[in-house]
Amino acid sequence: VCPTGALDVRDEVDRALDMLADPEIVTIFQLAPATRVTLPEVLGLAPGENFEGRMVAALKGLGADFVMDTRWSADVTILEEGTELIERLERQKAAGTLATHPDTMFTSCCPGWINHAEKSAPDILEHVSSTRSPQAIFSALAKTWLPQSLGIDPARIRVISIMPCTAKKDEALRPQLLREGEARPDTDLVLTVRELARLFERGGVDAASLEPVPFDTPFMTQASGAAQLFATTGGVMEAALRTVAALTGGKAPANLVFEPVRGLANTKEATLETERFGVLRVAVVYGIRHVGPLIDMVRNGTSPYHFIEVMACPGGCIGGGGTAQGRWRTNLPVRQQTVYRIDEELPVRSSHENPDVVRLYENFLKKPGSHKAHELLHCGYTDRHKEKTPPTFAKLEAEVTLT
Ligand code: SF4
Repeated sequence: VCPTGALDVRDEVDRALDMLADPEIVTIFQLAPATRVTLPEVLGLAPGENFEGRMVAALKGLGADFVMDTRWSADVTILEEGTELIERLERQKAAGTLATHPDTMFTSCCPGWINHAEKSAPDILEHVSSTRSPQAIFSALAKTWLPQSLGIDPARIRVISIMPCTAKKDEALRPQLLREGEARPDTDLVLTVRELARLFERGGVDAASLEPVPFDTPFMTQASGAAQLFATTGGVMEAALRTVAALTGGKAPANLVFEPVRGLANTKEATLETERFGVLRVAVVYGIRHVGPLIDMVRNGTSPYHFIEVMACPGGCIGGGGTAQGRWRTNLPVRQQTVYRIDEELPVRSSHENPDVVRLYENFLKKPGSHKAHELLHCGYTDRHKEKTPPTFAKLEAEVTLT
């Protein structure tokens, strides 16, 4: 056994290679929004390219059965989280507290933030959205809706996530995400972008030299521009504002770009005027040290915000610990501009207009916030304030240092 734990990381790449080599296993890869923007630098290339098609080509070359897109489930996240927000706003409207004492809701898709809230601010967990992250939503549906739709035995499926950080490995193991009666997590394996580069190297695939190919199947791959925005700070908020504006008679900009939540400032705020709820106030923050004042406002009842997005990493997932770190500061703005460009290039810009997500609700979940949606796509949190260094997370943090 390696005394430093460094070998554990290599084992994750080995595990992926083992799954790819096993003819009994159906491998389903999901690519997080930030990974296609951050992989080029890990491969020694300049930032600014959307590497998505080459990632798909490389994984198919290694024998992946299906390569799909976490952006698809980011759109589902917006439908669930947006519905949750609107329900919360309705309750405040009925109580007459909407404008005077907003019942703030925090986003929930960043496991770095969720771990912090559970360990350091468990008293505000009731303010955290119960909607699972796009990774967790993808995996739950890849083990339920997908096999049902494609006629695959779910027991043969292994979901392998390509993610921007090791915190996603920790998230995959959360007991709250286990489906009833299941011993195996829905997400079987998580590789960071740097591990993906090692997987390509070990498999003898030169991703940069490959012609881009599209994602597999019409299932779980179609995405809106809003879903691409999840890669950067302010992106989950902008995606939510597009859908919430559409559902509440809100005044969205004609180009759907909410400038106040864009850019790399560590704290931003914006307003959205709606017919149904009047003016909604939102905030966006990244970096755990910057969220403290917002937590304090929620605690003492002075928060003016209806919704707050929190991301742990600088700039959001484009600055995740599992991505390239070398020229991080100079390259971060380029990564962010690439994210904005991809959003503008996609034909569908809002999550609720994604036809494949509409089909998911029509054929499987019925409607956002349904009983089935809650069963598969939501979760609870745990007060972990006594748990200073959770064993799993401590191990993962050690890996971050060592890779
Ligand atoms: Fe992971 Fe950082 Fe993104 Fe949070 S912000 S999901 S910790 S990469």
